[in-house]
Amino acid sequence: MPTTCGFPNCKFRSRYRGLEDNRHFYRIPKRPQVLRQRWLSAIGRTEETVVSQLRICSAHFEGGEKREGDIPVPDPTVDVQIKIELPPKESKNNDRRRKQTIPARFPCDSPAG
Ligand SMILES: [Zn+2]
Repeated sequence: MPTTCGFPNCKFRSRYRGLEDNRHFYRIPKRPQVLRQRWLSAIGRTEETVVSQLRICSAHFEGGEKREGDIPVPDPTVDVQIKIELPPKESKNNDRRRKQTIPARFPCDSPAG
């Protein structure tokens, strides 16, 4: 399966086909949270409906390149590229603690229906 764009009604899906396809795909950023939320709302998803394989094609960014803080738009040739200011990055020396509270896994014991 070729990678497809997760943007709703992505019109570049067909437009780019066969042409000089130097399109690439971006994952939804995990951090910072504020950026992730903006991406999710831009593509009409929530944490509940987003899937990890979801990719956004470069055609949703001005010039075909994502820059820091960019939010994908339906069509950067007609829509103004949205950009947010990212919060300062966390210090690398800080916060080396790992989360220890993740349960190993959920047993597959849901009642048969
Ligand atoms: Zn797309």
